[in-house]
Amino acid sequence: MKEKMKTEMRFCEICGYPVVNDESGVCMCCERCGWQSCGDNIEYEEKYGISYPMVVPLSRAKMQYREGKPFKPTFEDFIHGLDFYSEMAFTYRRVKYGVCYRSDHSVLFYNARQVWSFPTKDAFYKFASIGGDLLKDIWDQVQEPRYM
Ligand SMILES: [Zn+2]
Repeated sequence: MKEKMKTEMRFCEICGYPVVNDESGVCMCCERCGWQSCGDNIEYEEKYGISYPMVVPLSRAKMQYREGKPFKPTFEDFIHGLDFYSEMAFTYRRVKYGVCYRSDHSVLFYNARQVWSFPTKDAFYKFASIGGDLLKDIWDQVQEPRYM
């Protein structure tokens, strides 16, 4: 049995532009502002302090849009994303980095050549560094912080 999927018209929760759900019926991508949404971002923000799949919480994303800024999660949002999804990634100076929880809740931070381990997410937040620079201090230059 195959039913034809209803296409449901919605409006972008950031800019109000009309958007159509994709085949999954859950996700949308706005052609005007680039915002993507899969699920209830109001609930995601309340419960986890994130959105999905954009990471930036919805209310701050609206502010960023109004100010003409790109949607970019803060390092704190990124950590919330780690709590929500357990595996995160970003790019810095064209190198891809991954961050993930292990079963004992320690944090692995790695790229293709090296692995660093932190006993807790707080230790990761405070002490993770790249080339001697603390990640929290160079976050402005980090690109595409995202779910893995
Ligand atoms: Zn939009």
